[in-house]
This record gives sequence, structure tokens and C-alpha cells, in this order.
Amino acid sequence: MEKIRYFDHAATTATKEEVLKEMLPYFTLNYGNASSIYSIGRKSKKAVEESRHKVAYAIGTEAKEIYFTSCGSESDNLAIKGVAFANKEKGNHIITTKIEHPAVLHTCQHLEREGFRVTYLNVDNEGLINLKELEESITPQTILISVMFANNEIGTIQPIKEIGEIAKRYNIYFHTDAVQAIGNVRINVNELNIDLLSMSAHKFYGPKGMGALYVRSGVKFEKIQDGGHQERNMRAGTENVAGIVGLGKAIELAYENFDEYNKKLTDLRDYYFSQVEEKIPDIKINGHRTKRLPGNANISFEFIEGESLLLYLDARGICASSGSACTSGSLDPSHVLLAIGLPHEIAHGSLRVTFGDDNSKSDVDFLVETLVEIVEKLRHMSPLYEEKSEK
Ligand code: PLP
Repeated sequence: MEKIRYFDHAATTATKEEVLKEMLPYFTLNYGNASSIYSIGRKSKKAVEESRHKVAYAIGTEAKEIYFTSCGSESDNLAIKGVAFANKEKGNHIITTKIEHPAVLHTCQHLEREGFRVTYLNVDNEGLINLKELEESITPQTILISVMFANNEIGTIQPIKEIGEIAKRYNIYFHTDAVQAIGNVRINVNELNIDLLSMSAHKFYGPKGMGALYVRSGVKFEKIQDGGHQERNMRAGTENVAGIVGLGKAIELAYENFDEYNKKLTDLRDYYFSQVEEKIPDIKINGHRTKRLPGNANISFEFIEGESLLLYLDARGICASSGSACTSGSLDPSHVLLAIGLPHEIAHGSLRVTFGDDNSKSDVDFLVETLVEIVEKLRHMSPLYEEKSEK
């Protein structure tokens, strides 16, 4: 068996040892319910509040504006449905984009079935929204703009500050799904005029099944899950104390080593791009060349099926992705790649590689060498490629 080389950090990351170590006592020793008044309950409560401070500090806000959830998807649901239901007297129009993660897209489609109207903004061929189109889409009924910070498939980073300014000018709430951005892009919610922000611990070396939502004080939103009064009555359910501690530790570690880590990812990504461009013909880099996540590289290999590529890579111990992790169960071409204008057959041949702290330059060399070999093999099996070569 080949050594495993993991290039799918946008799908998930391994929980860091230091994070796990901080979490463990909350399973077996300090297992008290954070709502209980005896000592082990109080210890849990204290740990939850410390974690809340760490999350708030990382994004330049206050602990009272942070709500813990069970994942990034729940944070997106709570933000969008929470604002929509609480503000329906004011209006029923929401603006989002065509390239959101399903946690946002499907939430918006659900709201459409409940009578809300949703505008899905186009993106250009690098994945950026058009600010003029955004502004022209605003109506007196618009209550929320939800635009992702950075795309999970192609890595493009949106003009968040400008979107925040537009939202503020029109007095509309602005939510951003920052699940892929936390730990990779510095975010200050006040400087960027963000009113709600979703994050997920497992994308920055924290545990899976743990998310948080920032909601600016004064934003009118309501809970979407009935039950107890946890999280200041906005998110029912006994607190996942160990998970919350893990999220807090993971975000703290991410900011301790922020610049060095992201420089490493940028260098690996740019090295990978230059190597593939040099060694493999008929490729296309997807997403914006510079306004992109440090660790994201998405490339379409013409005359190739992404799924076959993945299987061959897997046989060589390489983990990568052909689309968004959450949607790659289906063989439909990715909605993001179609939205940036790729034809179906090119979209099908795309490979997302996302770097992380366990990758080195020699791993990239191995990846590129393997790709050169597999791409050539697969192209020789393609009648279209043979036809092109004969011309
Ligand atoms: N939003 C984006 C942009 C994501 O990439 C993901 C997961 O891949 C999610 C939301 C969902 O997060 P979670 O897996 O924590 O539900």
C-alpha cells in the first residue's frame, strides 16, 4: 500500500493532537451538562464561554454575538431561515449566488417553497459576482444578502467588504458562509460590515460536527429548532462541550500560526500550478488566479473524466476531489463549474486539490508525476483525444 497523501483539506482536515487533548477531559471527567449548577456543570459552562471568547476574538467581535451549532450547514440554515422568518413582515426577498454550497442553496430553495423570493446572482468566468448586478437586484422587499466568503470548489474569494458596504447602505442584513475562509483569510466582521457569519470546525483542524454562527447584536433573527433555552434561547440542544472546546482550540491555533501556514499553502499551490502548466497540455485553471484561497487548486484536464482520475489517484494513495465533497456523490457536473461557464465535458474533467499542513513540496512532486502518467493513460483511452491528436 502506497503512503497516503492527502490533498482534500477543503473536504475536511484531521483534528490536531493539541485540539483532541483539550477535548478529551470533557468526555470522561468534566462531563457535566453546561446548564447544571453543580461543579462539573459549571466547569463545562466555563469551558464553553472561554471557547466563545476565542471564536469572537478571531473574527474581531464579542462573545455574546457567537452561537454554537452542530456544523457549518446548521449555521447557514440558522442564519438564513432565522433572518427570513423573523423579518418576513419587512420583506420576502433574499439575494444569494449561483455558486453557494448546498447548505445555502437548498435552504434558499426551501424558503422559496414557503413563499420567499430568491435572486441567485451570476458569477463571471473566474467565479466573482458583479457588484452592479447585486445592487440592481435589491428591492424594497430585500431582507438578506447571503454571499459566500470563498468558494469551496474553485477557491474564489468574493469582494466581501464591498458587498458589506452595499448591504449597509440599503439597510439589509449581510450573511456570509465563511466555512472555507476561516483560518485562511483574516476576517474582521466590523471592518467588513458582516452581520452574520457561518463557520465549521472540521475545516481548520477541529472536530467534525461542530460549527458556530456569528450574529451581530441587534440583528432580528429567530431560532429554527425548538427545545431548551441553550445558546441564549437561540439554538436548542445540550451543548457539545467537548466539540465547543475543540472548535475554540482549533481557531486559537489557526490564528497563532496564521501567516506562516497560509504562506506555505500559497507556495505549494503556486508550485503545483506551475508544474502542471509546464508538464501537462490541454488544461485549464479554474477560479480567480489571485483572489483565491491559499490552498485551493482546481484544474480541468481536457479529454478526461474526473471520476476516473480520482480512482487512479486513489490507487496511488492520493486523496483529492472532483467537485465539492458534499455533492460529489452525484455524477452531475458541478453547479459551480457550470456557473463559471465551463462546458459539461470540461467540467467533468476537473480535479480539486486542496493543500494543508501535512503536505510538502515533495508530495506535490509526487502528485504531479502521478498526474502526468495517469492523464496520459486516460487520454490515450479517449477517442476524442485520439481524434484531436490526428488533426
Ligand atoms: N459551506 C461551505 C462553503 C462548505 O464548504 C461546507 C462543507 O464542505 C459547508 C458549508 C458545510 O459545512 P459542514 O460540513 O460543517 O456542515
